Amino acid sequence: MADFKVNIWDNQRIYLIDFGRAWAKQHPSRWCPDIDNIGYGDEAYPTENGPKVSARLGQPIVNVRFFRTEISTKARLYAIASDKNQTIRIITPSKGELPATRESTISFRPIKQGRTSIDIHYHWPDGPIIGSLYVEIRRTININIRAHIVSVNGQPHGNDFLGETRPAALTAAQHQERRIRDLIKGTNQVFEPHGLFLNLREIVNTAWPLAIFGPAPYADILMCSLRAMAHSPNRSSTRINLYIVHGPSIPFALTFVAIGPPVAFAIAKGARWPNTPAGKVGSGIFVDSSASPMTGSILAHEFGHNFSLTSLFPHGIGHTVEDTPGSTPCRDDIITRRRLMYPYTTLRNSNNNWRMNVGYGNNMGSMLIQRRVARDVTFEESKRAYNFCLILNNLYAN
Ligand SMILES: [Zn+2]
Repeated sequence: MADFKVNIWDNQRIYLIDFGRAWAKQHPSRWCPDIDNIGYGDEAYPTENGPKVSARLGQPIVNVRFFRTEISTKARLYAIASDKNQTIRIITPSKGELPATRESTISFRPIKQGRTSIDIHYHWPDGPIIGSLYVEIRRTININIRAHIVSVNGQPHGNDFLGETRPAALTAAQHQERRIRDLIKGTNQVFEPHGLFLNLREIVNTAWPLAIFGPAPYADILMCSLRAMAHSPNRSSTRINLYIVHGPSIPFALTFVAIGPPVAFAIAKGARWPNTPAGKVGSGIFVDSSASPMTGSILAHEFGHNFSLTSLFPHGIGHTVEDTPGSTPCRDDIITRRRLMYPYTTLRNSNNNWRMNVGYGNNMGSMLIQRRVARDVTFEESKRAYNFCLILNNLYAN
């Protein structure tokens, strides 16, 4: 009996197999990264035709899901690294032969920086290739973070801090530190497969007087917030400053849960004050500690702004069509809604069910697109974020 039997229509490609994100207890997970299967072409790598994934050196294991979509479970199939285990080593299946099941997990370990593929061979380990998963392994870029627990006008944070109520057994300081570390860990679940690692170097207590926002009335609350970030005591010029601020203590109503203005955005907006010869820049991340939910995915979204993932639109902070009239339209479909930097709306709407129920449990989607397609300029996020972070002056500022 034939191993596969499908109707082939004129000009139609048939994919006998497919790849997807592997299962984890909770998504996002650095062990089970998103597979970019948003189409097949890639203008950055025109010879590649298929799904893509990336990982960083130092990750002990990466899992991906393999599907026999249009081929019998009786067909003998082999998963083989195209460069014979030089860039990655396939751990499962250990001898290459895939199990006789509809779905299975392929696990591999990154070995060296570079680009390779996991090829699926038909019938023999060196038989015809019927599909591939393209894999990029990156050297890790460490990104330094300083977290500020900001008290505004001497006011304390609430017991509800970064989306969780303080357990009775913990002091406020213990609860706050634990939440910050948990959120950074959650953020790294998103970015590690892209070669980026957030290194929380210190947590400091920082006091903001009301005057730090500038004089009342507070007409432009974004500018007032950037002004406070720029003028903050303890601001580091060798870290991304993450300001955790108790929203209700601020002298105006916030219209955001968090913002992540990148350096270039702050400078372009004139959010730079000449307190030093170079001027203090209102870049970094500002999070309302009273906002709930607050997850690693939400924080990762703000880091995505810091990494300039929306810089293709004016000033690098807004999203597209909704925020920027006249900007280039981009894709909106079932995969797009899984994206970390969902291009059609702001984070204000991230509680909407259509964005929440996208395969990450209670988290919003965290996918970064790998491929480049000129018709959608928001693509190639994984490589763009990585290349941006290679230049430290893009991340850190006085
Ligand atoms: Zn955003």
